[in-house]
Amino acid sequence: MTSTIQNLFTELGVALADYEGNDIASISPINGLPLASLRADNAAQVAHKIDRAHNAFLAWRKVPAPRRGELIRLFGEELRTHKAALGQLVTLEAGKILQEGLGEVQEMIDICDFAVGLSRQLYGLTIASERPGHRMMEVWHPLGVVGVISAFNFPVAVWAWNAALAFVCGNSVTWKPSEKTPLTALATHALFMKAVARFNATSNDAPDGLAELIIGARDTGAQMVEDKRVALVSATGSTRMGRQVAEVCAKRLTRTILELGGNNAMIVAPSADLEMAVRAITFSAVGTAGQRCTTLRRLFVHDSIYETLVPRLKKIYAGLPIGNPLEKSTLIGPLVDQAAFEAMQTALNAAKTDQGVVFGGDRVIVIGSEGGYYVRPAIVEMPSQTAHMHHEIFAPIMYIVRYQDLQQAIDWNNEVPQGLSSSIFTTDMREAELFMSDVGSDCGIANVNIGPSGAEIGGAFGGEKDTGGGRESGSDAWKAYMRRSTNTVNYSHSLPLAQGISFDI
Ligand code: NAD
Repeated sequence: MTSTIQNLFTELGVALADYEGNDIASISPINGLPLASLRADNAAQVAHKIDRAHNAFLAWRKVPAPRRGELIRLFGEELRTHKAALGQLVTLEAGKILQEGLGEVQEMIDICDFAVGLSRQLYGLTIASERPGHRMMEVWHPLGVVGVISAFNFPVAVWAWNAALAFVCGNSVTWKPSEKTPLTALATHALFMKAVARFNATSNDAPDGLAELIIGARDTGAQMVEDKRVALVSATGSTRMGRQVAEVCAKRLTRTILELGGNNAMIVAPSADLEMAVRAITFSAVGTAGQRCTTLRRLFVHDSIYETLVPRLKKIYAGLPIGNPLEKSTLIGPLVDQAAFEAMQTALNAAKTDQGVVFGGDRVIVIGSEGGYYVRPAIVEMPSQTAHMHHEIFAPIMYIVRYQDLQQAIDWNNEVPQGLSSSIFTTDMREAELFMSDVGSDCGIANVNIGPSGAEIGGAFGGEKDTGGGRESGSDAWKAYMRRSTNTVNYSHSLPLAQGISFDI
């Protein structure tokens, strides 16, 4: 283990000795070298952690919601204090550039702030009853153990989106992070436990087992999904994983929030502000080295501006600074591993067989980080949208297709199985409104004059079709973490039945 990691663990309060073992190696994408090696939880340990979480739920649900919010406020403080250290660890373990590592922690802070406010706003409804002397209302109650499964590319923010809401809603949380990024999970868990200790210094409201961290690979996640005590499974990752999780949860009739793969498009219309479009396209397509669920993968450019826009993009692509993500000047860090690099090369070869013209996409050797898989992001000019473009390739490949008619571009946007994010660049109000309308983009996110990636926590986040249909984060996404109870109270002296039914005994 390097001294950098050791120092970060010390600052973040991670007791690595409690987790060390030979089952899961955390490999830094920066240079392909191991950062640390951990033991995985065995079946009995997983069951024990879920048991603890279930018992914690039974106690935590009785703590008033605003008091639960206080714990999240303290956690937000810990994140603010340790933002630099956790952000750096995200960069070391997930390979995203430092600015994005810090941005990921900021997203955790933002959702904590949101959840603190939410803890005083878990509103129900009062509904007009059809019966005299009756009051009808809906109230929201805590749900149970929330099982979170997260992906490597947002190793800590996704847990926070779920956990901050789940905790203020009165639930406990078990977390199975990606086997590629367990160290950031240990650090996040340690910071949460610091907040719990401060919270419990004034009372003993936060029970043991409120947050349980489960270390392991797919089989460990699968065990958590199968456990009947887990009342909601919130799983983020590939569509393949989501189908497996959905099947198991459907069998035991358990709720899910599925946040799965995306295949996001942007339309650039003739009236677009091209200066803005160029910046948005570049950030959305190459940010996080093309490893965001919302990464721009398909660009539909109107024929009339194609020859202006595409050469500019190529020029920018040719000069993008690729290198160690810890260095300030770097904009493109490494792919997560060799498998990601190979999948990218396979996709580029497939595009060539479809008459695609490939620009970039080759491996870049970074001096001092020779074991990392760095690539020049690729632009692939396609004669049309082909079947290969229907697949999400988790790497920086942007396919570009010309269009003549906006309806054709919207149809291409919607043609793929995924439905996460989309955007249009236009200054024509009719085009913008059509794109956002019921016959426009079929995605969970449809933006105008910004790219498809880089969402704020205030809006509900998620997508349709193969993206899974789940919603997390802001707006009323909290309702998925609670159970609704409809109460009718009769304060009259008679017992009228609904629908005027007469039932005299
Ligand atoms: P992945 O599907 O390989 O793994 C994600 C997580 O699922 C890991 O923790 C893994 O151990 C677990 N897992 C896999 N199979 C499982 C099973 N059968 N039962 C239980 N757990 C299982 O995904 P990845 O490579 O880590 O991440 C990249 C993918 O995640 C991309 O498809 C990306 O689009 C998607 N993603 C989606 C969102 C979103 O909000 N829609 C956000 C981030 C990433």
